[in-house]
This record gives sequence, structure tokens and C-alpha cells, in this order.
Amino acid sequence: MNSKLISNARVLPRAASLLFLYLLLSGCGDQLLSHSKFSGSTMGTFYHITVLTNPAASISEQDVQQAIDQQLQLINQQMSTYIDDSELSQFNAAAVDEWVQLSPNLFDVLMLSLELGWLSNGAFDITVGPLVDLWGFGPGRLDRADTVPAQISIDRQLKGVGFQALEFDLESSKVRKRKPVRLDLSAIAKGFAVDKLSELLLFAGYTDFMVELGGELRLHGNSPRNSAWRIAIEQPESSMMAVANKAIKVSNVAVATSGDYRNYFELQGKRYSHTIDPATGYPITHKLASVTVIADSAAYADGLATAINVLGPDKGFQLAQQQGLAVYLLVKSEQGFDAIISDAFKPYLE
Ligand code: ADP
Ligand code: MG
Repeated sequence: MNSKLISNARVLPRAASLLFLYLLLSGCGDQLLSHSKFSGSTMGTFYHITVLTNPAASISEQDVQQAIDQQLQLINQQMSTYIDDSELSQFNAAAVDEWVQLSPNLFDVLMLSLELGWLSNGAFDITVGPLVDLWGFGPGRLDRADTVPAQISIDRQLKGVGFQALEFDLESSKVRKRKPVRLDLSAIAKGFAVDKLSELLLFAGYTDFMVELGGELRLHGNSPRNSAWRIAIEQPESSMMAVANKAIKVSNVAVATSGDYRNYFELQGKRYSHTIDPATGYPITHKLASVTVIADSAAYADGLATAINVLGPDKGFQLAQQQGLAVYLLVKSEQGFDAIISDAFKPYLE
């Protein structure tokens, strides 16, 4: 059994960009405030946490590490499609029309996923799981074929897509499916985990910290430099020169990025990303290289980044402006990359 939620077969580009992020964070020779770091692997990726020492917090570092690991294990057991007996796998296996009692965490993530589904006009859809698998990006992807599936298979799986099939009983926290859909929370669960770890740290008495999991971030209070957190906007590798050192100053918000350069395969010069357009059943192919979103919660930012990635630069930017969402788009151009920045994002730029 594979305990990974999201297994990035190609984690190197992400690792490279994270390195970039940390270089920026520890850029000059400032006197840094006392802080501790926690890290580990989860959900097929890594997490890194930095907390400023708070003498008032009564919990030992060892206990913090243990609480973090327990929390991540719990979320994985609730939301992983890589764990056969996870709560999500059990819901996926449940019969059509059968009401299933869900944990508060899973119930919350499903509700938020529907909110994002409606907001994005169906671009964000947690029932794309069968298509993610068909294109070889689901569990067991390490032996994927890297081929384009037959149209007839795509059409068949498309019939099983549609989050509208989910019905919620708000009073009893039960959910049922009205047709045989299969859920995949990979686009939102990492962000949700970041929120839960942040809540845990706040609860333990920490006021200044950064939580990063698979590139999704949440920042509170001040950084070890005793000022707001300074974060480099994740750049596609080849654009590091083209868009130099764009950085944001953030505090008490989450930052998430969705890009086509991290998990994909290439066939005859065409790039097939792990993000699927639920309208066509095909991986997205437009010129949007990456989407960075700033929002209060990391789950929301994580899901919204994927949603806007599916919508593409035009519709994605339109939605951001209409709804006042803080969104930064990097669009491939002939010269390299163009940055398109929503009004709500601008105040965060350095
Ligand atoms: P990214 O940072 O590139 O958005 P994520 O891991 O956050 O990457 O989300 C991508 C994952 O979400 C895919 O691997 C797939 O499991 C799932 N997914 C793909 N397309 C969609 C979609 N349209 N709506 C919701 N989830 C999707
Ligand atoms: Mg995402």
C-alpha cells in the first residue's frame, strides 16, 4: 500500500524553486531572531515549518514535531486516494445514494471544494479522479504509459464527472453521491493540511511562523528578520532570468501556486499536465505557466490556484477581478513570460 496522497514523480523542478524561495528568505546577513525548524515528508512531497521562539509557549519542540506528524497522518488517513482504507477511499467505494457519515475535516474540505466548483463555473471539480487516473496521474502513476488515451475512454470517464452529484446533509455531516462519482482531493488537501498545521501552532502559543507543504504556504506574524515574511513568487525554472526576483511581503495569509511545469509528460513536443479541464477531459494546454493566489486559508488558495489554472489566463483573470481575488498569473509569451496581476494582489508586491 502506498501512503502517498500526491506522489510527484517529478519533484525536482519544485525542489529547485523552493531552494530559490529560501535563498531569498535568508538573503542578507541580518541578525535573525531565535527560531526553530521542523520538516519531513508527507503526501508525496515535503513540508518545512519555521517558528519564531516564543518563551510563553509551554510546549517542547519534540512535542510540536510529534503533534505535526500526528496531524499529517490523520489528514492523510482521511483524504488520501493512495490509502485503500482511507475515509475518502471508503466514501468512493460506497454505493450510490448511500448516506455516509464524514469526519469534520473531510466534510469541510468537500464543502469548500463545492464552493470552488461553483465559483469557477465547474473548472475546479473534485470528481475528475477517473480522468486523472486515465491520463496516468493517479495512484500507481510511477508505471504510467505517458500516452494519450483513446477518445472513447475519455468520453466514457467524462460521463462520471460532475461535483453536482454530491448531496450534503449539513445537520448530520453526511454526504451521498447521486451518481457513481469518484473523488480526488489532491488539488486542495495539501492546502488544508497547511491550515491545520497553522492552527495547531497558533493553539500551541506560536504567533510568528511559516508553514510550507508542497509549495503551499501560510505565514503568520513576523519572520526571523522581525518583519513581514518575504516570499519569492514561484517561477517556472526557465523563467528565472525572464522575471527577476518578484517577491511579496505577507503576513497572516496563505499563498498557493499552481503550475504546469511540475507534474506532466511530454509527447511529440506537447505538454500534458496533471491538471484536467473537466469540460473536455483533456489536460490543460493554454499559455498559463503558473498561478499564485493569496487568500486567508491555504485550502482555499490551493484549490483556487488550480481552478484558475484550468480557466486559463483570460477567464481566470476575469474571475479574479470580478471577485476581488488576489491572483498573479505568469503567461508564456514569445519573450519569456508576462505577469498579469489582479488589483487585489498588487498591495502585496514589494
Ligand atoms: P498544482 O499545484 O499544479 O495545482 P495540485 O497538486 O495542487 O497541483 O493539484 C493538481 C491535482 O489535482 C492533480 O494531480 C489531480 O489529482 C487534481 N486535479 C486535476 N485537475 C483537477 C480539476 N480540474 N479540479 C480539481 N482537481 C483536479
Ligand atoms: Mg492546488
